[in-house]
Amino acid sequence: MRELREQSGIVVGHLVDTSFFTVIVYSRETKRFATTPVPYRRPAAGEEVGEVRCGTCGAELLLRVRSVAETKRIRKRHLTVALAGLALSAAAAVFGSLVYLPLAEPLGKIVLLAFLAGLPVVGIAGWLWWKEDGVRLHSAGVSTDRTHWRLDGALPYRAAP
Ligand SMILES: [Zn+2]
Repeated sequence: MRELREQSGIVVGHLVDTSFFTVIVYSRETKRFATTPVPYRRPAAGEEVGEVRCGTCGAELLLRVRSVAETKRIRKRHLTVALAGLALSAAAAVFGSLVYLPLAEPLGKIVLLAFLAGLPVVGIAGWLWWKEDGVRLHSAGVSTDRTHWRLDGALPYRAAP
């Protein structure tokens, strides 16, 4: 989990080209980016949206930065959801192991579904909890920007409205 600094920076990537390397059924996509480091400072409270410029083409992008307290609050929310999913799966596993539940019975199906539904919730919410840094890059327009990406985050993503 990344430490939440008052002042830090992200890396904005401007997509230069995409090439494909294909051998029969195997295909690998290679994207090349020109990068611009973009510094930010977190607000004391709440969130702030600021304009940033791509260092390659000068396009305007938006950067939404949340305060440390606000980011911690959102991390806590993800953690709560992850723990609820874990509790659901654990409760279903314990209940299913103590009581004989044939799958033909509705209760057996419900317990199995509760067990299976809890696991992805734990995975996704837990991952979001671990990776949340309270900083998002957005496009300034209405549609998804195909050229500008945030590259330093948990997963590279395109700037969307
Ligand atoms: Zn650009």
